[in-house]
Amino acid sequence: MTVTVVGAGLAGCEAAYQLLKRGVKVKLIEMRPQKLTPAHLGGGFAELVCSNSLRSDRLENAAGLLKAELRMLDSLIMRVADETSVPAGGALAVDRESFSARIKEILFSFENFEFVNEEVTAIPEEPVIICAGPLCSDALAESIGKLTNEEHLHFFDAAAPIITKSSINFDIAFSAGRYDRGDDYINCPMTKDEYDAFIDALVNAEVAEVHGFEGQVFEGCMPVEVMASRGPQTLAFGPCKPVGIVDPRKNQTPYACVQLRRDDAKDTLYNIVGFQTHLKFGEQKRVFSMIPGLENCEIVRYGVMHRNTFICSPKVLDRTFALKSNKNIAFGGQITGVEGYIESTASGFLAAVSMFKRLNGEEEVDFTDLTAIGALGYYVSSGSGRNFQPMNVNFGIIASPNEKIKGGKQARYNFIANRALDKIKEIKEIL
Ligand SMILES: Cc1cc2nc3c(=O)[nH]c(=O)nc-3n(C[C@H](O)[C@H](O)[C@H](O)COP(=O)(O)OP(=O)(O)OC[C@H]3O[C@@H](n4cnc5c(N)ncnc54)[C@H](O)[C@@H]3O)c2cc1C
Repeated sequence: MTVTVVGAGLAGCEAAYQLLKRGVKVKLIEMRPQKLTPAHLGGGFAELVCSNSLRSDRLENAAGLLKAELRMLDSLIMRVADETSVPAGGALAVDRESFSARIKEILFSFENFEFVNEEVTAIPEEPVIICAGPLCSDALAESIGKLTNEEHLHFFDAAAPIITKSSINFDIAFSAGRYDRGDDYINCPMTKDEYDAFIDALVNAEVAEVHGFEGQVFEGCMPVEVMASRGPQTLAFGPCKPVGIVDPRKNQTPYACVQLRRDDAKDTLYNIVGFQTHLKFGEQKRVFSMIPGLENCEIVRYGVMHRNTFICSPKVLDRTFALKSNKNIAFGGQITGVEGYIESTASGFLAAVSMFKRLNGEEEVDFTDLTAIGALGYYVSSGSGRNFQPMNVNFGIIASPNEKIKGGKQARYNFIANRALDKIKEIKEIL
């Protein structure tokens, strides 16, 4: 039995390795360098398209926890990242050239490995794991669209930041819908002075560089800073319009109001409505913290702008990233709606070990939402799919402790991390 893996990116290389080391024959198909994506530069395996940082290595950070879990489970990407790391304080950063070369070398060292250098345009023979990334070629994207019954896969040019509900100051913010319809939104009321100061900071904030898509970025949805630069009242008549909203503490309609919409089934994460942005991350934190009620906001996913192709996973994928309608076709990486190098790696890992279990006639292992790896699977496969947006790993998607943990946020995160690693220890025995 041969499993085809499409895409030699982070997810595809991890998926291939997990199958190879379990004795499965793997055919890995990659189109680069013959056909490049708008962001990749060459034909290297697991090319890091932007930063060389795999983010924090600290356990009290969800990205650090995800890495610790992957290390325990012999992830190829983590092993090589550790081998090729460069000093980066509390983060894990790599020498991208040796990182890529070593991954290729390890995969080629397996006798059961076959590499094909061509563009995949149709869904290949099953079983297959498709890890074609956010910049999946058009022809394959069209085939995936047909397979998943979506007229077109989601593309977005800009996304709004997502923050944790627990970091919102409810002495100022309040839950209410417009015109008293329900309480689905969290509202942050602004006085005229607060609004003016905020607009001034927003239009003068520093914008991030956008990679490769300069011609297209403004066509999809307009970043909030661009909207604001069209005139000081633009937001007051747009996403910050206060019409139909009454601040219960003052019993009056505020001058302007920023609304936050729930982002996850667990009701722990909220996105700032209409605030898609490509400000630099530090600037997002600085400027959005000026919104009353968001002074201490914890941003778990910053607004970003680049082309992104992803399937509406809650509708079509299960928690192992396999198609609900045909488990011999699975997906891995950012195309599933996880976001980030390590998240893409984790989803390639989970797709592959789950595929292996199924092909062997064994029961799939449930990583549960107690672990960061499992929580990503649950995040992409739950909910209705309406407003589904890619997500970095964060503590908001991992199951909260049942009991109150004393000692503040860090103590709570430590508890969650240690509980996750205990669970991974158990899982390792049966994987
Ligand atoms: C511009 C940009 C910058 C980013 N910067 C960061 C960052 O700094 N930090 C971070 O954590 N995340 C970043 N990301 C998000 C994400 O983590 C990366 O895109 C990551 O590489 C995704 O891993 P992947 O394996 O899903 O896809 P990729 O690593 O992109 O791998 C997909 C592979 O599939 C191949 N492929 C595509 N279509 C076909 C086809 N039809 N046939 C054969 N092969 C095909 C591609 O050539 C590619 O090699 C960025 C994304 C983009 C687009």
